[in-house]
Amino acid sequence: MTTQPTIGVLGTGIMGAPVVRNLQKAGFAVRAWNRNPDKAAALEADGITVADTPADAARDADFVMTILIDGAAVEQTMVDGGALEAMGKDAIWLQCSTVGIEATERLADLAKARGINYIDAPLIGTKKPAEDGKLTVLAAGNRHLEPKCQPVFDAIGARTIWLDNVGEASKLKLVVNSWVLAVSAAIAEAIALAEGLGLDPQLFLETIKGSATDNPFLQMKGQATIDRNFAPSFPTDGAYKDIKLILDASQAADIDQDLITAVQQKLERTVQKGHGDKDMAAMFHATAK
Ligand code: NAP
Repeated sequence: MTTQPTIGVLGTGIMGAPVVRNLQKAGFAVRAWNRNPDKAAALEADGITVADTPADAARDADFVMTILIDGAAVEQTMVDGGALEAMGKDAIWLQCSTVGIEATERLADLAKARGINYIDAPLIGTKKPAEDGKLTVLAAGNRHLEPKCQPVFDAIGARTIWLDNVGEASKLKLVVNSWVLAVSAAIAEAIALAEGLGLDPQLFLETIKGSATDNPFLQMKGQATIDRNFAPSFPTDGAYKDIKLILDASQAADIDQDLITAVQQKLERTVQKGHGDKDMAAMFHATAK
């Protein structure tokens, strides 16, 4: 009988919890840890092992996956939480949080100093694709590790895009998010304009439907905005964190991002108005004077 690989998952938030469930469904021996243990309790009720500390989740695991909010949280959990120290030399760290370029370099250096394999593996897709196991995984690092890592990524995603060098996946993630955030702000403004002009905003979605300028994201987020359904899928706080990473990267690359700068201001106003925990479609609330 072959034993299933063990995976310690650190972070059971909006993305981490469904990822844990899909890994367990695929037959991995999963140990989940979350800073606030209440969030992991529902997983325990479903038979998933919940570890008391990051080190307990990571000890003797074949993989450690981090799905935490940002680079600081990942570093704190891996270093202060003892997970990095607890990892065996053949274990692979799959870093799936969106942390940007600088933090990716810092985290990869920490892994290197301990002789641990590091895969830069941010995720594309929000809550629903995570629940459906339909994420896109951007994976960058030692390609010799690809056959070992692929079953993990297949358990959580529909597609994996492999890149050769650590950092490239995090760069691509920022490019994708710059597009998603710009489109999200445009949707919020178009719906607000329709309503402000006294039109039924549904007319906008119907007019665009099926044309070259239509897309499923517009229909989904546009409808949610019209319905004022801002249940978090990609929370505004997370989007605000990401847009800072995008602007830092733009600055380092000497690129002027006027549009993204404006979206950052809109996200900031959305957070200031108390909607940080709502979906980023709540940028609609930052359109009113
Ligand atoms: P979330 O629901 O807010 O979860 C954040 C996680 O980070 C929680 O487990 C939280 O623990 C933990 N955390 C925060 N600060 C911490 C600290 N200082 N030490 C230890 N743990 C800490 O966020 P999410 O949506 O799952 O996102 C997780 C990552 O995936 C982020 O990098 C995000 O950008 C990325 N991502 C998100 C989406 C999306 O649509 N939601 C899509 C793709 C990628 P507590 O529960 O204790 O607060």
